[in-house]
Amino acid sequence: MGIRARPEILALPEYRLRGRRGEVKLNQNELPYDLPEEVKREVVEALVQRPWNRYPPMRAERLRELLAATSGLGEDQIVLANGSNEALLGLLQAFAAGGVVVLPQPGYSMARPLAVVAGAEVREIPLRTDLTLDPEAVVAAARGARMVFLASPNNPTGRAVPREEIAWIAARTEALVVVDEAYWGFFPDHARNLVGTPEYERHTAVGLLVEFPNLAVVRTASKAFGLAGARVGWVMGSRELSSALLRTLPPYNLDVFAQLAVEAVIGRPDLVRSRIARIVAERERVFTELRTMGVRVYPSDANFLLFRCRDAGAVFEHLATRGVLVRDVSHFPQLEGCLRVTIGTPEENERFLAALRTCPEVGG
Ligand code: PMP
Repeated sequence: MGIRARPEILALPEYRLRGRRGEVKLNQNELPYDLPEEVKREVVEALVQRPWNRYPPMRAERLRELLAATSGLGEDQIVLANGSNEALLGLLQAFAAGGVVVLPQPGYSMARPLAVVAGAEVREIPLRTDLTLDPEAVVAAARGARMVFLASPNNPTGRAVPREEIAWIAARTEALVVVDEAYWGFFPDHARNLVGTPEYERHTAVGLLVEFPNLAVVRTASKAFGLAGARVGWVMGSRELSSALLRTLPPYNLDVFAQLAVEAVIGRPDLVRSRIARIVAERERVFTELRTMGVRVYPSDANFLLFRCRDAGAVFEHLATRGVLVRDVSHFPQLEGCLRVTIGTPEENERFLAALRTCPEVGG
């Protein structure tokens, strides 16, 4: 007997990454800095002390406590997931299966496939021509929908949705408003030095949770914490939301290493803040350099920049042959000619800029 996958699954593109290994990797929005070796050794030592024949803490309780303490939320308002993609899938399964999800486009590329896998119907709406979100269009599209998904800062555009606009939307819809703050930590400017404290959250969508029970915030350790290898994400929301999500996500979804690695980084807020500060300073420098070159570059609240060229494919190849990998995002609506570059170390950014300077297809 043959097997038959659901037709909507077979219609999804497979997740693929264009590029080669061992080059200047500016294509996945990772942090360019690994943890100092002594911190890694401490995590490994703690890992050795744990029994590997036993299941890990079921809901990563210690990690949840730490995240609660640093955000000012209750422990029962935080649910851990195996990467924020698992968190998004769980939210979609718990709240949107069989219903409609509103997705602004261009937006996070995994949102649509995750919604389809969860059995939800996708309603896409365009960003404004300046690539900012149109809150009125979101509210209009959300009529009868179960969920609105917003990434803030948005990927691949880089802009954060102002907190007041998120509140405005949440107040005008019955749908669950999911704010994916994967790039938290790199914004907002005036609060960045407070990362890791409850005061920081007064400036993010987390500070709106008390007011809006139909709001959820998703975060990841992959970017600001520099732990993409650990696969840890989490959801912050009401107790009701957490309780539904806990029934949806499988138990023991975070392995021991993942839990220990994130605990170690949360315990070092100075390290986290200084790495974020370095990335943001470089982001501003690269932004100015691109402008000086005459490249159309968009303002960013994240650890990457979106820029427009005459021929995205040719620029991608020009950079790749010089060992620099960026992301071609020119297939998105409104992003013709656009590439996305992650902010790396100063040396990596210099290699990117130097390669771009010799590229004839940049000019628009
Ligand atoms: N949301 C957004 C907006 C992202 O850009 C990414 C990663 N590129 C994720 C979620 C996924 O993060 P994770 O590694 O936690 O699955």
